[in-house]
Amino acid sequence: MELKAQKCPLCGVQEMIPVIYGYAPFDLLLRAEKGEVFLGGTSIEEGQPQWKCNNCGRFFVDLEVPKK
Ligand SMILES: [Zn+2]
Repeated sequence: MELKAQKCPLCGVQEMIPVIYGYAPFDLLLRAEKGEVFLGGTSIEEGQPQWKCNNCGRFFVDLEVPKK
């Protein structure tokens, strides 16, 4: 699984990481330690944020990528 940092729609810094819910396998735990993903816990509910910005610390439910 390739997880790439996305650009934050708020601060514009490419530090958006995916928020992962549910059971996290070992390689995902390593990625979380490196700050590549954020583990949101094991409870899965509707409307949970899917992205977190490492720069401004905000969570986003949907990632809106502006078109070039
Ligand atoms: Zn941001």
